[in-house]
Amino acid sequence: MRYNSELVVNLGLLAHNYQLLKKLTKNNETIFMVKADAYGHGIKEIVYYAFNELKISRFGVASLGEAMNIRESLPTLNCEIWVFSDTELDSEKYKEYYLDYNIIPVIHDLSDLQNILDDKDYARMPIVIKIDTGMYRLGISESDIEKMISLIKESGRSSIHHLCTHFSGSYIKLKNGDKTSRQYEKFLKIKEVLHDSGISIEESSCANSGAIEQGFSLDESHVRPGLMLYGPSSTISSFSQWQGKTISSFKTKIMKVIEVKKGMPIGYGGHVCGKDGYVAYVPVGYGDGILTYYSGLKHKYLGEDYQILGRINMDLTAIFFENRPPELKRGSEFFFWDSTNNNIAELSAQLKTIPYQLFTGITSRVPRRYIN
Ligand SMILES: *Cc1c(COP(=O)(O)O)cnc(C)c1O
Repeated sequence: MRYNSELVVNLGLLAHNYQLLKKLTKNNETIFMVKADAYGHGIKEIVYYAFNELKISRFGVASLGEAMNIRESLPTLNCEIWVFSDTELDSEKYKEYYLDYNIIPVIHDLSDLQNILDDKDYARMPIVIKIDTGMYRLGISESDIEKMISLIKESGRSSIHHLCTHFSGSYIKLKNGDKTSRQYEKFLKIKEVLHDSGISIEESSCANSGAIEQGFSLDESHVRPGLMLYGPSSTISSFSQWQGKTISSFKTKIMKVIEVKKGMPIGYGGHVCGKDGYVAYVPVGYGDGILTYYSGLKHKYLGEDYQILGRINMDLTAIFFENRPPELKRGSEFFFWDSTNNNIAELSAQLKTIPYQLFTGITSRVPRRYIN
């Protein structure tokens, strides 16, 4: 564990982002995606706050274990938890947990559907189905829809509680006839087929952040935002109007500043310094989530350009400044991203990655501290 390196999570900004979301989705209910430890922000605290303060009552995770983690850490919280991907429904042992812990699996496979429908213990479990409309990942495929209908009918049921699909490219600016529109058309068509065969659909959802930001597929009853509620836009360039604020700041402290001369070999592998200047060491490395791709990063701090020098270590990172900001000394604060500067989009573009990965990369050695 670290003390002076921390991810400071401002829950008030989560509330701010949720208010912005509600302006875009006035008529939709929210399924808040909190997989991967609430995108690195701490699943227990985020769910607790969102349920009590924002009145969000349904949460989505990727795996059964994540769902169990919420139930075990917040045993009295009366929220719904849905498992969207790694349901483990093929395991007799883990399948029980859904009933024991009141968790709902999103069924994305025909054999899982059969398994659930055949089991008397699951007779009261709401049926939630994900269909594959062209992502070719999880979901019941278009060619299996007739089979799905027969299975549902044979089980004596006549409704699906919730039908959903997932978009593969909604982070790209939408155009008529593009991949996302074709996926959505397929979804609407499958809804019609179900309707015509006498199966009613109580609820539905398609939109992740990229779609919500672009106002797409909001006629469905629910939306499933993830990233945008943590602040950043999910879209790849600046066409989105999303004004969310990054809810976290990844802060550390300068451990040491040394003066260096051109030609000096710095750290592991002896990275040769190209210029005279200063190297500030911060006590975070790949063991904290500053993964090796941060090496070479050029960014600004206290108004001065810096570059991350040489190899990232497990526990340390070297930051080169040609011009030393006067405040740069032992004990002064340094951040990689920060709520006030809202710089995570720029940072992730520089690193050729996405904010999702920067958030989820922060390891458990970095404490999360919550402010409001
Ligand atoms: C993660 C996830 C989302 C949210 O995606 P964002 O891009 O973070 O908004 C929505 N639906 C499903 C099924 C997901 O797995």
